Amino acid sequence: MLLSVVVPCYNEQEVLPETHRRLVGVLSAIPGVTFELLYVDDGSADGTPARLAQLQADDPRVRTVRLSRNFGHQIAVTAGLEHASGDAVVLIDADLQDPPEVIPEMFARWREGFEVVYGVRTRRAGETQFKLFTAKAFYRLINWLSEVPIPLDTGDFRLMDRKVVEALKAMPERARFVRGMVSWTGFRQCALPYSRAARFAGETKYPFWKMVRFAVAAISSFSVAPLKLAMWTGFATSGLALVGVVYAMLVRLFTNDWVPGWAGLFVAVLFLGGVQLISLGILGEYIGRIYDEVKRRPLFLVAERRGFEAAAATSNGGERPSVRDAVVVEHRRIEPTPAVGAR
Ligand code: UDP
Ligand code: MG
Repeated sequence: MLLSVVVPCYNEQEVLPETHRRLVGVLSAIPGVTFELLYVDDGSADGTPARLAQLQADDPRVRTVRLSRNFGHQIAVTAGLEHASGDAVVLIDADLQDPPEVIPEMFARWREGFEVVYGVRTRRAGETQFKLFTAKAFYRLINWLSEVPIPLDTGDFRLMDRKVVEALKAMPERARFVRGMVSWTGFRQCALPYSRAARFAGETKYPFWKMVRFAVAAISSFSVAPLKLAMWTGFATSGLALVGVVYAMLVRLFTNDWVPGWAGLFVAVLFLGGVQLISLGILGEYIGRIYDEVKRRPLFLVAERRGFEAAAATSNGGERPSVRDAVVVEHRRIEPTPAVGAR
């Protein structure tokens, strides 16, 4: 029975030793379990790659995957899932906001037969009021809009059965909202409340614009409601405009006191223009996503892997773990470029 723990890391040099120490402590204490720790370096620009190489050199249960640049949290998680070989896989943030001590409990639920055990944050320490409010609003909005129910206040901290991991690997979309995709897979899912700690060290890697992009990606990949909204607003305003036209005609034909109502005209033009622009914007958002999907680019590029040789020799006859859609760019140091739009 092998348990994989996937840890996405982006500039996390300050927390990694502590994260590793706590993960190993907790995982070693689960009876009857062998584990692998899979750290995905999402193109960090600090000492993270060196720290990870060190951890790997000291502990054969560590595997590291270094992406060729910063691809973003959700892609890093995906890269980790592609490389994990466990019967169950845990996703956990590197910053110790998700307490590793919850993992044994998740594991116990999995043993009971649940295929997904997701953490629900009951309390969140060390976050700004703004983040708390926007997060709360976001989870309620996405759950209201989405066709699949997405549990409120869950992050990616969860344990998934191999079946679910295989299902996720088979989902080819590029705009990846992992927690929604996991809900979509179905299976037996179970919530596990936990209290979210403050970040152990360092600062958030989700600045405001990254959060906005994350929210837009989530909504547009799990809901077509905005498109419908555009249509209904269009109908409603057209209806209103029709009433206005009839009214104008009546006034023009049957009364004498009609005035060149440029103000009304002006307002109507502006209003309709606004509605049209909104609708076009929404269309653009979805068309942009279609364009992005049809390009079929690999989701991520791996610059380097460490620690997989031993695992491969025992688990699949010495073959490299199969990585769909990933191109291996080995032994070529690619300077981490800042993520598109990231600050
Ligand atoms: N992360 C990543 N790539 C990114 C941004 C974040 O791999 O582009 C990782 C980060 O190292 C951390 C996890 O994703 O392990 C969650 O990020 P963070 O703690 O900064 O987000 P927050 O908890 O503030 O929402
Ligand atoms: Mg965090």
